[in-house]
Amino acid sequence: MTTTKAFANHAADKPMVPFTFERREPGAHDVAIDIEFCGICHSDIHTARGEWGPTTYPCVPGHEIVGKVRSVGAQVKRFKAGQTVGVGCMVDSCQQCASCKEGLEQYCESGFTGTYGAPVKYEGGYTKGGYSTHIVVNEKFVLNVPENLNLAAVAPLLCAGITTYSPLRHVGVKKGDRVAILGLGGLGHMGVKLAASFGAEVSVLSHSPGKREDAKRLGAHQFILTSEPANIEKYQGYFDYILDTVSAKHDLGQALSLLKRDGTLMMVGASDQPLDLSVFSLIMERRKIVGSLIGGIAETQEMLDHCGRHGIVSDIELIAAEKINQAYERTVKSDVKYRFVIDCKTL
Ligand code: NAP
Ligand code: ZN
Repeated sequence: MTTTKAFANHAADKPMVPFTFERREPGAHDVAIDIEFCGICHSDIHTARGEWGPTTYPCVPGHEIVGKVRSVGAQVKRFKAGQTVGVGCMVDSCQQCASCKEGLEQYCESGFTGTYGAPVKYEGGYTKGGYSTHIVVNEKFVLNVPENLNLAAVAPLLCAGITTYSPLRHVGVKKGDRVAILGLGGLGHMGVKLAASFGAEVSVLSHSPGKREDAKRLGAHQFILTSEPANIEKYQGYFDYILDTVSAKHDLGQALSLLKRDGTLMMVGASDQPLDLSVFSLIMERRKIVGSLIGGIAETQEMLDHCGRHGIVSDIELIAAEKINQAYERTVKSDVKYRFVIDCKTL
């Protein structure tokens, strides 16, 4: 067992506080990792605060993990001590079902094991995530991290990066396509960088006037303030694709009206409130709404390699662990530029 320092909250309405627990010893197929950096995803906040349903406490969130291999189990071939690696939102899946066999572990028919909050037979009965100094993960769920990139800024690629890469790739975004990213937060800013790297004409749809300059700097060609009716009027029927990353209830009808005939709205933002939909916004122009959940392990490696080749990382604010609660407050207010990352040395 390895004594592991962490931050956890003990109830939905309680703050993140220091917490210590024991990680299991690595088994034959496991990799033991000393965590260096962990991003703060809005999903951590939804979960810690019980917004998506009951949460098991103490809750140690964190699924954007980068660190160094401390040791490996006897059967591990792909990793060795000292190597830089990443862990994302999954730490296990059945490996037998059709989805797992296709490399789509996120859609495992038995349900994948999430990096935090999932029932397991070790470490007190449920998984604990990356707001911690150490983690033990089956090698199949450990990623190689390009060494040429700033490692703190790589951490958010493990969720925000793959969650935007996967749907953009799945629909085949290519040079010249008109793509809008709705919501410029952690996911949104990665969506802008990745869509631009595929050659798309990228626009940002935002409810925050102060993000105009950043949107351009991140690679967007247009910034469209969703609260300005004239702007919305100008872009009616304009986009091939909209990637919706908004974390709260918002107007789907407005987003759909901006799509061309046969355009696609891709939902990744996971509001805890149901969203209203008038079917006419789909019927009249044969538009589509699709959802997408993170990405499989092979695709996550493909995304990391793509980012390594193109020098793509997240824009981050690196914080000490004692600032996690402030970071949560700022994220909820859409005041994050554009991902908080915890320096895990400070845990
Ligand atoms: P984030 O950094 O907080 O960004 C969300 C953005 O949504 C904000 O920056 C803001 O952008 C916009 N927004 C927030 N509240 C809004 C409101 N009331 N009305 C309109 N726009 C609003 O969050 P994130 O980490 O990117 O995560 C985004 C969502 O994706 C969360 O719900 C998260 O749980 C979910 N998620 C899903 C997956 C998946 O696999 N599908 C994976 C990871 C995360 P502007 O200021 O530009 O308007
Ligand atoms: Zn996430």
